[in-house]
Amino acid sequence: SGKIYVVATPIGNLQDITFRAVEVLNNVDFIVCEDTRVSGILLSHYGIEKKLKVLNARNESRTTDEIIEEVKSGKDCALISDAGTPLISDPGSRLINKAVAEDINVAPVPGPSALTAALSVSGLPSSSFVFDGFLPQKKGRQKKLEQLSRESRTIVLYESTYRIEKLLKELSVYMPERTVVVCRELTKKFEDVWRGKPSELLEELPSKNTKGEFVVIISPLEWTDHDYSES
Ligand code: SAM
Repeated sequence: SGKIYVVATPIGNLQDITFRAVEVLNNVDFIVCEDTRVSGILLSHYGIEKKLKVLNARNESRTTDEIIEEVKSGKDCALISDAGTPLISDPGSRLINKAVAEDINVAPVPGPSALTAALSVSGLPSSSFVFDGFLPQKKGRQKKLEQLSRESRTIVLYESTYRIEKLLKELSVYMPERTVVVCRELTKKFEDVWRGKPSELLEELPSKNTKGEFVVIISPLEWTDHDYSES
């Protein structure tokens, strides 16, 4: 049977792709993506012309079965997402779960993720952290925030456009003493990283451009920014 490559693609800056990722994308029989329009920009930038198959939340079950059949018949495929590393808050877990169950060879082609990019510049403890992806939008959100307020490790969250103010307001209630690092539009033209207590960040907000994509990193309980300088 063929092989499935899980290939990381840029999180904004089209240059952030590995040589091997380009090679693999050129060599597979077909590419599985979330959105042909988004992936088309990347693929045409690198002159890659391939058959594309769309896998998203709406068609996941049916498409997963089709892909597994094609791979079993000997075809190699690459799974990519709109940005970063597939399966990190992105579709594909059903596919990879099924491939593993069916003894299909699955190989990573690692590269960018907003998670690791943000953590690497946060200045917060990074050897142990909890990643919670997107908070629930309505039901369960307050409970989750309450749980996280007791978390003793660094917390990494994703937040989408327009909801950053809401999140900062909530953090100023649930975790007022924590240091928060807001990473906006990493690797893109208007990349911006701001740090402070939730209330300080809220005060700065009116002078900030709050459109775009965000990773929010929250310091552990009982951590102060003197922790490094004193040791
Ligand atoms: N699989 C992707 C990864 O590895 O980072 C994440 C996909 S998730 C659907 C999209 C979210 O990731 C955005 O809403 C934002 O929270 C975060 N994100 C993606 N690109 C980003 C960037 N360039 N700067 C900041 N956050 C980003």
